[in-house]
Amino acid sequence: MAGPLGLRFHVLTFGCQLNENDSEKLAGMLAEMGYSEAAGPEEADLVVVNTCSVREGADGRFFGHLGLLANLKEKSRPGMLVAVCGCMMKQSVHLERVRKSHPFVDIAFGTSDLHRFPELLQRRLSGTRRVFEVGDEDAIAEGLPVVRGFRFRALATVMYGCDNFCTYCIVPYVRGRERSRPLPLVLDELRRLAAEGYPEILLLGQNVNAYGKDLGGADFPVLLEEAGRIQGLRRVRFMTSHPKDMSVRLLDAMARSPNACPHLHLPLQSGSDDVLRRMNRGYGRDQYLGLVAEARRRIPGLAVTTDLIVGFPGETERDFEDTLDLMDRIRFDGAFTFQFSPRPGTPAADMEGPIDAATVTDRFDRLVALQNAHSLASNRTVEGTVQEVLVEGSDGAGTGRASGRTPHNRLVHFRVPDGTAPPPEGAFARVRIERARTFTLDGTWEGPA
Ligand code: SF4
Repeated sequence: MAGPLGLRFHVLTFGCQLNENDSEKLAGMLAEMGYSEAAGPEEADLVVVNTCSVREGADGRFFGHLGLLANLKEKSRPGMLVAVCGCMMKQSVHLERVRKSHPFVDIAFGTSDLHRFPELLQRRLSGTRRVFEVGDEDAIAEGLPVVRGFRFRALATVMYGCDNFCTYCIVPYVRGRERSRPLPLVLDELRRLAAEGYPEILLLGQNVNAYGKDLGGADFPVLLEEAGRIQGLRRVRFMTSHPKDMSVRLLDAMARSPNACPHLHLPLQSGSDDVLRRMNRGYGRDQYLGLVAEARRRIPGLAVTTDLIVGFPGETERDFEDTLDLMDRIRFDGAFTFQFSPRPGTPAADMEGPIDAATVTDRFDRLVALQNAHSLASNRTVEGTVQEVLVEGSDGAGTGRASGRTPHNRLVHFRVPDGTAPPPEGAFARVRIERARTFTLDGTWEGPA
């Protein structure tokens, strides 16, 4: 497609790494049309806002950003085009608000219309005043061009959607049912990425370990083992796993695969059987405990991290103490902690027994304090050791400092000796860990790894 050379774009991304991967594809399609990337919206001829309806407050931030873009367009960039896409556009309440109250938005499309973006943009450029197209088609578009955001890690979405319908989550309504990409296509992409020099690949899916269930053939353990055979690919990670789709075969595949990182992110959400049932999570606390024990037995030294929600409707003090108790038994290496906030359109939004704000804050503070103690204790176990660190970037020109992650996903800030240039993004370094903090480690570079 002939491109409007000389024009520049900027993509604003909200939400998770799947959205980041979608934004990389939007950037790829725009680059193919002849657009180049602008440093920010102030310099762009086209701004694309890729929205999220999962993260708390994301809708407020989105409409706040739209206000800023309206101002920019009115005051200094009258010819600038604004496109909005992503999960929020799949919710008619948000789509209609954009249509009615934000007339400066030129293009709107949904998650399943990503591949049609060049066509929609071309229609706008050809004179159609507004192009709003939000389809329901759940097919996967293969072969889209990608401009990758990082040199050290490539994102590869292997499956889309989710069938789980956890009662607090909007994903199944906005991202559709589970659809896996065929294994040969996934492996082709992984081999290409390895050949291009990406040292690490993050396999993505809303429910990544359910990969393949809808295809009835190769499943996630097979994918992981095949990825382990790819020459030059040193690290493979995956997100996000669901405990009910975790199998011993997958744990064995992780243990056997030479490049699978010894890190498992396994959202627990609550340690109370009653809350888990009302969340529709499909497992209980004993099952989760057994899974973690099995995982640690099969993969010695495995780092286990999790997601936890505080203040789910009806959560009693006893339920909350069950969560603290499970955390004490498991001692997670890290956790993302959330206060429950209702997502309109989900069953939990209408559940009885909302928890008052003061109680939620109190429980949240206690939970975070406990997790921080566990995170620090976990980080202390590697003090004095030498770790292999994949460099994600330098901490600033001339600082003599850089950062990166260990195979267990611990974030390390390290110094290089005077006169030595920090290793570049994507390099592997041996780093001696000198000090553990709650969320990071401090160390000194010892040489390439
Ligand atoms: S598993 Fe549950 S929380 Fe995760 S995306 Fe699916 S419905 Fe949402």
